[in-house]
Amino acid sequence: MAKSFYVTTPIYYVNAAPHLGHAYTTIAADVMARHHRQRGEEVFFLTGTDEHGEPVADAAHAQGVSPQELADKNAERFKALAPRLGASNDFFIRTTDPEHMAKVQEVLMKVRDNGYVYEGVYEGWYCPRCADFKAENEIDEGKLCPIHHIELVREKEENYFFALSRFQERLGGLYREHPDFVAPRTRYNEALSFITGGLRDVPLTRRRLTWGVPVPWDEEHVFYVWFDALLNYYSALSYARPGEDLTPAFWPANCHLIAKDILRFHTVYWPALLMAADIELPERVFVHGYLLMEGEKMSKSLGNVLDPFAVIDQFGADALRFYLLRDVSFGQDGSVSTAAFEGRYESELANEYGNLASRTLAMVARYREGVVPAGAGRAPDPGAGWAPDAAIAADFAGLAERVSELIDGVELTNALEEIWARVRRLNRYVEEEAPWALAKDPSRAEDLDRVLGTLVEGLRVVTVLLHPYLPASTERLLAALGAPDVALAGAKLGAGAGNGTPPTRKVAPIEPLFPRAQGE
Ligand SMILES: [Zn+2]
Repeated sequence: MAKSFYVTTPIYYVNAAPHLGHAYTTIAADVMARHHRQRGEEVFFLTGTDEHGEPVADAAHAQGVSPQELADKNAERFKALAPRLGASNDFFIRTTDPEHMAKVQEVLMKVRDNGYVYEGVYEGWYCPRCADFKAENEIDEGKLCPIHHIELVREKEENYFFALSRFQERLGGLYREHPDFVAPRTRYNEALSFITGGLRDVPLTRRRLTWGVPVPWDEEHVFYVWFDALLNYYSALSYARPGEDLTPAFWPANCHLIAKDILRFHTVYWPALLMAADIELPERVFVHGYLLMEGEKMSKSLGNVLDPFAVIDQFGADALRFYLLRDVSFGQDGSVSTAAFEGRYESELANEYGNLASRTLAMVARYREGVVPAGAGRAPDPGAGWAPDAAIAADFAGLAERVSELIDGVELTNALEEIWARVRRLNRYVEEEAPWALAKDPSRAEDLDRVLGTLVEGLRVVTVLLHPYLPASTERLLAALGAPDVALAGAKLGAGAGNGTPPTRKVAPIEPLFPRAQGE
């Protein structure tokens, strides 16, 4: 049976419109999903929407519609975002799905049966936007929410509690034994210090609210939205494919991708909840940083706001995917701007990669009538097979393995950099070998074959490796190269030639992969 890989984005809260931050996480998860599919693994990629809780109920009330109507309307906008980004998610979960709600009830009944739920009174400072109580040490001066900078409300209510404090020891053990459970390291330390600082029990239900999953043992309560939401990662597998339970195939998840604002829920509450329900823990929570908008660095075509939809309309989803994972080191905070986007688009996508593709195809067409030549290293015995230029072969050795290793560590920017260094290497190779000069000298025909053959193979290999980042343009280019297979096993120089036989296929011309923006 093939190895399985399960990656998730957070489910997005329907109270806001989709923005760059949502696009960022979805793109990163998609790169991981596509890379693992290239490895021949069985992949499940989940995204969706979080629809319960007070903020949605309040917003619906203010708009004079029902919470369900508001959730339906806004969930559609998030559902539409995924395909526009080129995301290949296998399912889109909504926490108002009846199957999800039934699963939440089932799991939390188990938590109660296991003795981790009790009745109590909670009093504390509550942020309605976070839908969360704040500990005394995290309240900003003037009783403000440190995230939303709005005034906190003093709330007192009878609730059912989740006995989080009883998991202090086990969570500490989890962090000691699995130093990769949370990454990057700064986030691991942050989560661990929250745990070692002492855990308090947390409300599991809300009494006054009705917009949520009903508590099966007390009809006056609904579950606190965070517990309902976290369970999406688990519930989705049980009904994503009609008539089939995918849980045995994909649980536990390999990677939950999140942004740092929801760190505590995913690195403390979530593993404790799973322990309380006797469910296996996910392998890793990876926490990415924030994209900080530098509005003053403005481009002519995009204005001053990096709006994902405007970028996709003008430059395509691949360009947005590339820019976000290239310009900001994945896992850290970083600045983005429309000017920086345009710079990367022109200098790297259009000039370095797009141009490498165009001129390689053009030279094969001009000098060899579109047939990829069997080139260098051909032994006197024709049966000995084709081999690429030794200098390029050395620069490409171990590349696919290195990229896989980096993506396994969720180092998506570093993996892209490894590939991009070879795009640049191939451009230098063209300058060094000057095929146009070789073409003028009939006695150098074999050298020209060697150079063009190596170039096509090198271009094919970087294109297979770039496929998770640039799915649409790499598919176009691989089709033009006559080698549409994106399997990672083929990301080796010479693999495109088949079993040591020369790559004697034909290539086709293509329109520029990354054309200049309209109106320039
Ligand atoms: Zn808040």
